[in-house]
Amino acid sequence: MSPKRTRRVTFSVVAPIFNEADSIPLLYRRIRAVMERLREPWELILVDDGSSDGSTRVIRDLARRDPRVVPIVFARNFGHQIAVTAGLDFSRGRAVVIVDADLQDPPEVIPEMAARWREGFQVVYGVRAGREGETWFKKLTAALFYRLTYRITDVKIPVDTGDFRLLDRQVVDVMTRMRERHRFLRGMAAWVGFQQTGVTYDRARRQAGETKYPFRKMLRLALNAVTGFSYFPLQIATYLGFAAALVSILAIPVVVVLRLTGNQAFFGQATTLIAVLFLGGVQLISLGILGEYIGRLYDEAKGRPLYVLQEEPKTAAGRSPRAGRRRSPS
Ligand code: UDP
Ligand code: MG
Repeated sequence: MSPKRTRRVTFSVVAPIFNEADSIPLLYRRIRAVMERLREPWELILVDDGSSDGSTRVIRDLARRDPRVVPIVFARNFGHQIAVTAGLDFSRGRAVVIVDADLQDPPEVIPEMAARWREGFQVVYGVRAGREGETWFKKLTAALFYRLTYRITDVKIPVDTGDFRLLDRQVVDVMTRMRERHRFLRGMAAWVGFQQTGVTYDRARRQAGETKYPFRKMLRLALNAVTGFSYFPLQIATYLGFAAALVSILAIPVVVVLRLTGNQAFFGQATTLIAVLFLGGVQLISLGILGEYIGRLYDEAKGRPLYVLQEEPKTAAGRSPRAGRRRSPS
């Protein structure tokens, strides 16, 4: 084996970072403490998703001091799910752990995940038992979202799980081959299959700063989850069409009878107007749902790279990333 040969690592930890400069040093220290206790070679992949608060410098400084830290710097903000995807692309570990950079996912849970992995599970996801320090609005929308997606999507995405999870190399290799643009990684991991299990943990308070997921981004993620794994919204139009047709068929004999008995109650202007507005509304909503799918189809057809890097990452070993070479955007 030549010394140039890529150093093998057992664990890759991937953290997406969007303006988290205040959290990164502690994130690094806590992950290092946990990983050193596992006594296996590891790497920490920090994906800078277009930060503007100095996170980039903090990440680069860390990488200079510790060669186990791999900096990946995006040319702009591409979004959380894409940042995690880049981390998976460049990871080399036999197991990959995804954590939030704000330390809401305690790294101290990783050894438990690793233990389940050694037992033979390919996906070990974190199940949120409690959520400290989050608004009732966030808790409510999250609870609704998990339950709704569970009901209507075709893959069974475990409820109350986020992206905090350990993935076996086999799973990562499949997921990095799935290049869909509107990504919902939890769904993709569920789609892959294999043996999956969960470990419960208490979701901690955010270490510093504010959530980078405003309502708008949450809604987009929810739409990606639904459109990515279900045709249900498209079928709603069909069901509504059948329901409207049924109502009109039932209405015919009713109107005939009313006419014959001399009752004119059904023929007001208001009734007509309401019917027209209702059906118009339903049709516009159905068009909008179609639009959501067509827009996504159009994005896929363009086939743009998922992300753009500021520069190809280099490390002390002079290695190229596993998947990055093949997919590096140019
Ligand atoms: N994040 C990112 N790009 C974005 C938004 C968020 O990389 O466009 C990162 C963020 O830095 C954090 C993780 O994704 O490490 C989760 O975001 P956040 O904690 O704001 O979400 P929440 O926990 O409030 O749902
Ligand atoms: Mg968070």
